[in-house]
Amino acid sequence: MTLRIIIVGAGIAGLTAAVSLHQAGHHVRIYESSAFAAEVGAALNLAPNGTRVLQKLGFDIQRARCVSIQNWDTVDGTTLQQIACQDLSKASERFGASYVAVHRVDLHEELMRLAKLNEPGGVELHLSSRVVRIDANAGQIELIDGRLEEADLIIGADGIRAVSRMVIDGLAGNTSASTGAAISTGLSAFRFLVPTEFLQTNGAGKDLLQWKKPGATLLGDPNSVTTEQERHLMWYPCRDGNVQNFVGIHPTVPGEPPESPEGFKEQMLKEFAHFHPQVVEILKLGNDVKCWPLFHTEPLPTWTRGKLVVIGDAAHPMLPFGGQGSNQAIEDGGALGMLLENVHDVSQITARLDLFEKVRRRRASRVQILSTVRANRESLVENEIQKYMEKNVSLPNSFATRVAHDAGFDVFRRCQEVLLTG
Ligand SMILES: Cc1cc2nc3c(=O)[nH]c(=O)nc-3n(C[C@H](O)[C@H](O)[C@H](O)COP(=O)(O)OP(=O)(O)OC[C@H]3O[C@@H](n4cnc5c(N)ncnc54)[C@H](O)[C@@H]3O)c2cc1C
Repeated sequence: MTLRIIIVGAGIAGLTAAVSLHQAGHHVRIYESSAFAAEVGAALNLAPNGTRVLQKLGFDIQRARCVSIQNWDTVDGTTLQQIACQDLSKASERFGASYVAVHRVDLHEELMRLAKLNEPGGVELHLSSRVVRIDANAGQIELIDGRLEEADLIIGADGIRAVSRMVIDGLAGNTSASTGAAISTGLSAFRFLVPTEFLQTNGAGKDLLQWKKPGATLLGDPNSVTTEQERHLMWYPCRDGNVQNFVGIHPTVPGEPPESPEGFKEQMLKEFAHFHPQVVEILKLGNDVKCWPLFHTEPLPTWTRGKLVVIGDAAHPMLPFGGQGSNQAIEDGGALGMLLENVHDVSQITARLDLFEKVRRRRASRVQILSTVRANRESLVENEIQKYMEKNVSLPNSFATRVAHDAGFDVFRRCQEVLLTG
């Protein structure tokens, strides 16, 4: 008997879980609120803990036009003087998988190919299908048009504003000061892409492309000494190096947000006006500038309730400071597939979800707390991380130990351990 599984949300968490559970032999249906008409034009860093899972699922990094990330370079954005550089070129030897940057659309497309979407026997994807209510005990979802659908297991992968997290959170008795509620950080992120050929035909762009080390470059603001004042630019290529991705973290600009990308571009140029003139020149090349307010939540005390389990940002929304949000979502998806493989009887599901929490919750909570501080500020959250430590895990309290903690984790090995020992 195959399990009937419903996934709410076709983001990175939902699609990875769909591929992994389909490959484990289960029948998977995804209900996604959007029509995918507004897919986000931005890139992501994938670390070895995520690429290891994708490799096992058959992900083709060439087809997804991934670019290898060989360095994590930190420079002063106002002078372009180097502050620190983490060499990641030996990641494959060290961690058994590599660091890459990928455009979100390319990542989605490759995951959708692996899910064999809407092919006979493949994953069913229902677009424009918003889930408005989840009955965790009955294993039932209600769609916006009133339709009801049932499953043996419901996976809430509906992102930061998840309906599913509120169902889980209800169990924890958090009615008013909810631990699951998204909390504003007071920070926002500008995001835009520039074709590499545009940079090559611009004086400053050409110079900086030659100056930049291959990989991710963080251009920091020496004046931002606290997380509340955080201001930096993150720059890395994607799409076989043909597109350059920029993210600009800054304190949220007070007042009503602009109505157009031009308005956001104007704000961005003001926020980073004191950066090196060549950097400002590059920012002027940005079109279609978007801006995301950044939210976080406290780690949830449980991820499961009845027939419902939450994963990805629905379970552990992260700030972008460690580049781990998607990687953790991918670990969740990989773990569910492995832990539910060979489960053909619904009565076994609860025990396997307990194992899933054992593998994932403390680990993702540590990474979630780390994500609130940027590189080299790990010691600021050391006490909080202590609450989520586990046997045989070293405390991540510096950038080097954070890299080892985040990238060095093999979610499949951990699943095998708990399958053997319980
Ligand atoms: C500026 C920025 C930079 C980042 N950089 C990185 C990085 O370099 N590396 C990294 O690993 N992570 C990064 N992240 C984090 C990463 O983007 C998220 O962690 C990741 O997208 C989470 O995936 P998800 O599938 O859980 O959620 P989402 O991608 O939000 O997907 C949720 C899906 O559920 C759907 N949905 C929502 N509600 C419903 C509903 N009621 N019914 C049906 N469907 C619904 C949504 O339409 C969406 O498709 C970054 C984030 C930001 C903001």
